[in-house]
Amino acid sequence: MSLPKTRPGCAGAPIPVSRIPRPTSGQGFADKWRRTRLAVAQSKHLRQTRHLCEVCGLRLADELHHVQPLSIAPHLAADPANHQAVCRECHQAIHHGR
Ligand SMILES: [Zn+2]
Ligand SMILES: [Zn+2]
Repeated sequence: MSLPKTRPGCAGAPIPVSRIPRPTSGQGFADKWRRTRLAVAQSKHLRQTRHLCEVCGLRLADELHHVQPLSIAPHLAADPANHQAVCRECHQAIHHGR
């Protein structure tokens, strides 16, 4: 009698997510990963606000403003708390005054 060997690929204990290696190598991949997260955060945010501009509340928001500019707080790029769904006109106003 011999113990059955664990076959690779058979149903065993699932690998915990934390054990899955995070792809850290490759600038291109990191970039893509960041963009994907950003896109997800954007669409979530726009859905929550029902696509209405958070500034005027009248027009549809088709742009995403970062309350803390990315040049100052790049780590908040995908943070919904740092997002403001705005229409193009309000967005221009925020950045260019008036
Ligand atoms: Zn607006
Ligand atoms: Zn902006």
